[in-house]
Parts: sequence; structure tokens; C-alpha cells
Amino acid sequence: MLNLVLFGPPGAGKGTQAIYLKKKYRLIHLSTGDLLRTQIAAKTELGIQAKLFIDKGELVPDELVIGMIKVKLNQCANIKGFIFDGFPRTEEQAKALDVLLNENNTPFSGMLALEVEKQELVDRLLERGQTSGRSDDADVSIIENRIKTYHVKTAPVMDFYAKQKKKYSINGMGGIEDIAQRLNEVVANF
Ligand code: UDP
Ligand code: MG
Repeated sequence: MLNLVLFGPPGAGKGTQAIYLKKKYRLIHLSTGDLLRTQIAAKTELGIQAKLFIDKGELVPDELVIGMIKVKLNQCANIKGFIFDGFPRTEEQAKALDVLLNENNTPFSGMLALEVEKQELVDRLLERGQTSGRSDDADVSIIENRIKTYHVKTAPVMDFYAKQKKKYSINGMGGIEDIAQRLNEVVANF
């Protein structure tokens, strides 16, 4: 099994690159952001809760996100592995993922951390906001809050995996194909 965490700030290109990795290695793409937006569209209790946080650029509480991942892992038998996109976003979530993978007797392969300059992130998100219909992409102050939240709460997850020697930094600036190639050079060795 190949279980990858695709990591990086908002706008780093996780969703875009997940599509390449998913195809090449036949993995299941689990984007917690996409899963939450599905819940919001369906107006479920989880969606209604999550929307309160997402609209402000804050994180959805750990227990809600971890619960959602747990359900997904249990639904998938006989697969080649997962790409976790946008999860874990806190150290608590990273610890929970370790436990869940252990319970499912499946290894953690590595964290791929996409590194992108701040101004490039803001530019990409504003551009995406013109077509994505996502309220959290449309407003500069919400984008700034998402990036700040990333630095305060999510960036420590890099140290968590670095200590386990499972963190791989990838330059996320430049063309999509070039970045896909850089990711592939790392994943091919897992
Ligand atoms: N979010 C969250 N936990 C998750 C996934 C998403 O709290 O595990 C929330 C958070 O408010 C985030 C928003 O959903 O700003 C959008 O997440 P997504 O991963 O789609 O955004 P991206 O980082 O890819 O732009
Ligand atoms: Mg995304």
C-alpha cells in the first residue's frame, strides 16, 4: 500500500497534483475540503457545522474531520492506497491518522510538502475564486486568514513528520507538469 499525505498551504496545488498521483499509482484521493463541501451542499448536520468555520477561513474542529476520515478508511477494502489532501491539518489529526492507519494494518509512506511563495498563493486563490464559486477563495481577508491559520496550526505537522523522517519537501513553484515530475521522483522511491 502507498499512503501519501499531500501537504502545503492553501493554493499550493495539492488538488491539482493529487489528480496526477492518483492516476499514476491508482490511489484513492481523499480531499477533506471536497468532502466537507459535499456535506455543505447536502446541508447535513456536519456540513452546517463545518460551514461556520470554512466561511471564516478557520479550521473545522479535529473530531469532525477525523470522524469523516475514519468512515472513509473503513469503507475502502482492497485498494492500493490513499492520497490524503488537506488532511492532517493539525498535529492532533496527524496523530489520529497514525492510529487509524495502524488499526487498518497499512503503512504510512510519506508526506509530500509543496512549497510555494506567499504572493503566488494569494494570486492562485484569487484566480481560482473567479471560477470556483468558493466563498473562501473570493475575499482577500479570508484568504489571508487561511494562510495565517496554516502557519499557526498546520505548519507544525511538518515537524511531526520530519521527526519520523517521513517529510519530503517539493518545490511547488513553476509549471504543473514540472511539479508533477518532482513529486514522482520522490514517490517512485517509496
Ligand atoms: N477544512 C478544514 N479541515 C480539513 C479540510 C478543510 O478545516 O480537513 C476547511 C478550512 O476552513 C479550509 C477550507 O475547509 O480553509 C478549504 O479547504 P481545502 O482543503 O479545500 O482548501 P485548499 O487548502 O485546498 O485551498
Ligand atoms: Mg484543495
